[in-house]
Order: sequence, then C-alpha cells, then structure tokens
Amino acid sequence: MSQHAAAAAGVRWDLSDLFASHDDPAIDATLTACRTRAEEFAARYRGTILVPGGPPPDHLLAAILEMEGIQADLERVGAFASLLYASDTSRPEFRDLRERVEQHLTEIGNLVLFFELEWLEVPEDAAAPLLDHPALAGYRHFLRQARQMRPHTLSEPEERLLNERDNTGPRAFGRLFTELTSSLSFPFRRDGREERLTLSEILALSHEADRDLRRRAHETLFEVLERHALILTFVYDTLVQDHLTIDRLRRFPHPMAARHVANEIDAEAVERMLAATERNFGEAQRYFRVKARLLDLPRLALYDQYAPIGAELPRATFDRARQLVLEAFEVFSPAFAAAARQFFERRWIDAELRPGKQDGAFCASPSPLLHPYVLCNHTGNLRDVMTLAHELGHGVHGWLARAQTLFNYDTPLTTAETASVFGEFVVFDHLLSAESDPRVQLALLCGKIEDTCATVYRQAVLTRFEQAVFARRPAGRFTADAVCRLWLDANRPYYGDAVEFTEAYRWGWSYIPHFIHSRFYCYSYVFGELLVLSLYRRYKEEGAAFVRKYLGLLEAGGSDSPEALLRPLGVDFHDPAFWQKGFDEIHALVDRAEALAASLAQPASPAGAKPDAG
Ligand SMILES: [Zn+2]
Repeated sequence: MSQHAAAAAGVRWDLSDLFASHDDPAIDATLTACRTRAEEFAARYRGTILVPGGPPPDHLLAAILEMEGIQADLERVGAFASLLYASDTSRPEFRDLRERVEQHLTEIGNLVLFFELEWLEVPEDAAAPLLDHPALAGYRHFLRQARQMRPHTLSEPEERLLNERDNTGPRAFGRLFTELTSSLSFPFRRDGREERLTLSEILALSHEADRDLRRRAHETLFEVLERHALILTFVYDTLVQDHLTIDRLRRFPHPMAARHVANEIDAEAVERMLAATERNFGEAQRYFRVKARLLDLPRLALYDQYAPIGAELPRATFDRARQLVLEAFEVFSPAFAAAARQFFERRWIDAELRPGKQDGAFCASPSPLLHPYVLCNHTGNLRDVMTLAHELGHGVHGWLARAQTLFNYDTPLTTAETASVFGEFVVFDHLLSAESDPRVQLALLCGKIEDTCATVYRQAVLTRFEQAVFARRPAGRFTADAVCRLWLDANRPYYGDAVEFTEAYRWGWSYIPHFIHSRFYCYSYVFGELLVLSLYRRYKEEGAAFVRKYLGLLEAGGSDSPEALLRPLGVDFHDPAFWQKGFDEIHALVDRAEALAASLAQPASPAGAKPDAG
C-alpha cells in the first residue's frame, strides 16, 4: 500500500480556476445569476419560437446564444461540484454541494425546457429553411439533432413531470443498485487470514497468478451476489419494464431506438456491426486456446481469462508513466504531445491515491471555455500507464475541440472513445517496440488482446443479452432463473468450447452497472474500439497525411454527425467491409501472440498437463 501510495504522491489537480473552495460565495452568485437569466430568457422567448412560419433566423440565433451562455456558466458550477466530490467523496460538505448544485441544474433546466419543445413543434416546412439559413450555419447540427426527438417528445407539463418523478422512480432503483453493490462484502481467505473484500477488490483477483485463488474469488463473487438475487432481479426487472413503458409513451419503435438517436447512428449499422462481431467470435476462441497453452492448461476456465502469463511487466512510477505516454504521443504528433503535456504542467490531473478519492479514472471536459480535467488512481503498474494514455486521449480531444461552441463541443458515445482508445494504441505500440525481452513483449500483446476482447466481443455479448431480456419482458415479470438462462445463452456462442463454464457464472449479469444506469450503452464500446482499430491501420499506412486528418476530426468536436465527421478519414460504417477491417487487426495481434508463444515454448514436461490437440 505505502509503495503504491507513493507512486504518484502529490499529483493533485488544481481546481482554483473554477472556484476557490466549496463555500466560495461566487458559486451561489453564479447559480442565482443563471436562474435570473433563465427567467428573463423565458419571459423574452416563450411563445416566440413556435410561431406561424417559424421564428426569424436572427431571433432564433439570439435565443440559442443566450441559452448557450447560461449553460456555459452552469457547466462551470456543475464541473466544480462534481470534481470536488470526486476528489474526496467522504467529505459531507462536498456531497452537499454536489446535491444542491444538481437540484439547481434540474430547476433551471426546467425553466428553459420550453425552448427545445417549441423548436421541435415548428413544422418541417418552416424548419427546413432555418436549417439551411447561413446565419444559423454554426448551429445546424445542434438544431437538426434536437429535431430527431420530435416524434418522441411529450408536452411540456408531461416532460416536467417525468423529470421530477424520475428522481424517486427509475433513478431511485439505480441508487438502490449502487448502494447495494457498493455495500457488499465478500469474505475471502488469503495467506491464512480471513478478509472482507469490496466488489472491485474481489473482481481485481481475476488478474492474480494463483489459479486456485482466482477460482475461489470467482465462486465467492457469485455466491454473495446470489444471496441478493431477489433485490438484484427486482431492480433490473423494474427498470426494463420502466424503459418499455417510456418507449411506448414516447413512441419509440424498439428498445434500442432511443439510444440510437442519442448516438447518432441507425439500427442497421449497429446490427451489421454486431453480426460482424459474432462472425469473428472464432478469433477470440483462437486466442483463448493460445492462452491455455501459455498457462499449461488443457482448456481455459472463465476465471483464467485475465490470468497473468508469467512474465513480470515492468512497473512505472507516475513520472515514468508521464514520460512514456508523452514520448509515444510525440512520435505520433508533436501537437498531440504538446496538448497532453499541459495536463502535467498546469495541474489538470489528479493521480495520487488518497482515502475518499473516487475509484477508477475519468476525464471531464465540461466546456470549451474551460479545460479538461483528468482523474486516475496510479498504483504503478503497466495498466495504469494505459489508463493514463486513455484519459489523456480524452483530454487532448477536449482541448483540441475548444474552438467549437458549447453546443458543438461534445461527441455522442459512439465517437466519444475515439481519441482515448487511439491514445492507448499509440502508447501500446511504443511500449512494444521499445521492449527487447520477448517474454515481456508477449505479456504486452496478451494484455492488449484481452482488453480488446473485453471491449469488442464481450460488449457485443452484453448487448445481445439486453436485446433478449427486452424481447422476453412483455411476456411477464422475470424470475432470477429466467434472467440467468438468458445470460448463459448470450455467452455461449462467444466462448464456444474454448472456455469452460462454471455453475456460478449464471449470476454474471447481476452486478453490471450499465444494465441498470445506461441501457444499451455497451455497443458504443464495440463501435469505438473497431473504429480505432481501423483508424490505426490507416495511420500505419498513410503516416503524416492521416495525422493531419485525425487532428482535424478531434478539432471538430461534436459539430456534425459522426458519419459526416468521419467521412474525410475514409470511414463508412454502412460498408460491411468496414467492420471486418477492425477484426483483421485483431487477427494480426493474435497471430503475433501465437508466433511469439510458439518461439518461446519450453520443451514439454513429461508429467505436466498438456495442451489439447486443437
Ligand atoms: Zn474513455
């Protein structure tokens, strides 16, 4: 612990360019000013957008600019409250600030809600000339994207009612899930001592070298979850039914439709991508067989998937991690590296381990008028270096897109992970080429392939599972057993006969937060990873010409649809061959691992378990 804690000691972000402290009077002054502006906005614009023939273009533009200005000020307060809370979740005054700010944001949001609703009600023939008007060119995508919700929006009182009721409805079930899973305690015996582990601690044991320990961790995880089957099933079942009800009220044609609108992608492209993923399950199974040979097992079990393969990966202090990431970025593009360097020099990053600090890692890019912030928990292993590369990729994206206005800044989920996953690839490649020990090279490759499997194949499995659940729910309330069966059915085609199932694994669905908090989120991971795999191949082929186009993509932020922004890079995700390119890259990685493994293979030990004939 102390060695880990020292890995990034003192690396804390500086939030003082947002506000001075949690009790800075400027916070309340900003909220009050925003509320006044929102009330004035409502007094000035209510009833002036939905008018016969549509509003005059300059009137509509003035309204958008005013709303964007209010929103930008709110982002500053919202970002400060949530970053401060993330930096120490145990401080009641930080939690209070965050809750108070959220309440204000909902109320102020409700004051200006009419604007979007009026715009949606403007008939097509009046809206079309506005969408083409040069004065509104900077907001064309924003205005057009908002209208995608036209057939699915309810009246203003209904929308307000849903907003308010959601806090004690679906969001309350979400909180119950979070509070239950984060309060779980897993009894685990290790080194002769009985420990109580948290969910993330017991999950982390899947990376341990000791097979018996991994198996016991796997069993304990699901044993404890099974004890809460009643609540976990009830919560999930309720949220699925709630989603179906809202879909019916909003007239969405199928359960994924709302997500597709937000992601700016159509059902056909998503289905094509999932089908391509399923056609390539064999690639993952080939890797599982390679890994079984490396671990000297006849066949992998589920709990062997993330086992280390022997070689010690080098450790990296935070300084070393910074150096590695910046070196790699520099090779890719000096501009990319320069943008990343600021995070360290200007203290936009919080990396040290502290009690009370939020787990995991994220990058927040609240507004183009501010700058992004990165949070991570650097323990000093090589995975942390990849996490740093990932979050800095997001950070550089947020920085490069700052010439966009707030309403053109954020990208949808489908492309939100482009820069981050790309950043990981750049660093992975750099580490691999700098490494001379073939054992470490193999460990790096296996780590990359396993991450890719978890991001591509597994997320497609999760999506198929959700589809099956939603298709079955209209027939009646779920029993835990029925959910478990659908879960196993969705997993079987992926693992095939390459991985041995366990009895306990039927509870594998029960702790996954995405099913609860953001349904049908998971296919965005598949999209992002496959997109980056094929972009990375293009970078290898085209070099500097690609880098220019790529930086242009990041600078464009969310100013147009993913389809339009990706076109200059030669990406057409309606082309069936496009998805296959990503799998060709995975194939090449597995080939490389297989060849390296074969060249390192030791002579067979006569008594040991031997690889199967396949
Ligand atoms: Zn990310």
